[in-house]
Amino acid sequence: MSRHFDAIIIGTGQAGPALAARLAAAGMAVAIIERHKFGGTCVNTGCIPTKTLVASAYAAHVARRGAEYGFDVTGDVRVDMKRVKARKDDVSGRSNRGVEEWLRGLNNCTVIQGHARFQSSHTVVVNDEVLQADKLFINVGGRSSVPAMPGFQDVPFLTNSSMMDVDFLPEHLVIVGGSYIGLEFGQMYRRFGSHVTIVEMGPRLIGREDEDISEAVRDILEAEGIQIRLNATCISLAKRNNGVAVRMGCDEGPPEVVGTHVLLAVGRIPNTNDLGLDRAGVATDPRGYIVVDEQLQTNVPGIWAATAVPWVTTVPRIEETWSATEVFSTGQLSGSPTAFWPSGSSTGFSLPSSRWSISLMPAGPGTGGWSLDRSTAPGLIVV
Ligand SMILES: Cc1cc2nc3c(=O)[nH]c(=O)nc-3n(C[C@H](O)[C@H](O)[C@H](O)COP(=O)(O)OP(=O)(O)OC[C@H]3O[C@@H](n4cnc5c(N)ncnc54)[C@H](O)[C@@H]3O)c2cc1C
Repeated sequence: MSRHFDAIIIGTGQAGPALAARLAAAGMAVAIIERHKFGGTCVNTGCIPTKTLVASAYAAHVARRGAEYGFDVTGDVRVDMKRVKARKDDVSGRSNRGVEEWLRGLNNCTVIQGHARFQSSHTVVVNDEVLQADKLFINVGGRSSVPAMPGFQDVPFLTNSSMMDVDFLPEHLVIVGGSYIGLEFGQMYRRFGSHVTIVEMGPRLIGREDEDISEAVRDILEAEGIQIRLNATCISLAKRNNGVAVRMGCDEGPPEVVGTHVLLAVGRIPNTNDLGLDRAGVATDPRGYIVVDEQLQTNVPGIWAATAVPWVTTVPRIEETWSATEVFSTGQLSGSPTAFWPSGSSTGFSLPSSRWSISLMPAGPGTGGWSLDRSTAPGLIVV
């Protein structure tokens, strides 16, 4: 016994819910399937909660600089992480509930909770139920990559997802990975009051950006007291009394740094390994990303993938569906979100391939890139 729909959407991340609404409004019988939290990464462990945390960190940072703005704060600025987390949970929770209520309120749309797996090209199994559809849309997103670096099984470590449960101030947070996510958490926790060390394998931070951007970002972060270790080849982890040692083969500096907590921010992998794509005949690249054409159609007619496809392919389309955050938005293509303060915005191109590049703008929350404290924050604008 199976149920038939005109369209099945797997995942309720950025594209899935909007697509469900469009198809259902057009009179199609739609099923949308979610295995975990409605709204996916952006709503629950990515953009929205992290930008809420960034906003708290920014408020603490400005409070500490009160004298520059002409006011006094009596006593130290101390951050209560339980309240910071509660605020984040509230903002993120409202989004999560909003997505669920929206989907459940749609006519012609059936919401199913469970893990979806292809049984064949037009058949999906969820909670032992067989569902069939003429059109299938994959919106399964990705998760933190945890590389098999020596010692990682022996030590506790955090990822962007488990960071969402942190309601205390790590004394010394060591972040492995100096790209967007690592820098965002690094600056945020430094502003909350932690000691922060960022360990990056490459020769510079956010290696996808132009060199002058990397340098400007490094200057900004170091000026806030963040320790940065570059060229950290051969990273390994080991237990230490009350903490974790991150060992590295750096050109300069001590061969290891010991922190109380370690965050791994070393990239993302697509959620395609447990989707039964082989049964559907859907092709992936060697890293597990789904291969699609310009219309986001896979090699199997009737199956599209809105995410978990190579980044370059998705830039223009993802931009259409990414929810606006309070942090960035400039050019027509929103590329890599660089969400530390001063905030960055990128068109997705870098010099010299394009005249347009990232701009690191002195910025405040909600200013869309232009800042309330523009006169005092460091930054760099490239157009
Ligand atoms: C820390 C962090 C900060 C970020 N900050 C920003 C930012 O400021 N601005 C910005 O634009 N972007 C930001 N991003 C990126 C943004 O979160 C992602 O680009 C976006 O969430 C990707 O959406 P998606 O729809 O591809 O996948 P996801 O949001 O991951 O959604 C996929 C959904 O599919 C579900 N799923 C997976 N497999 C199955 C299955 N087999 N069956 C049923 N359901 C399944 C998952 O549970 C999930 O809910 C950030 C990301 C991170 C990690």
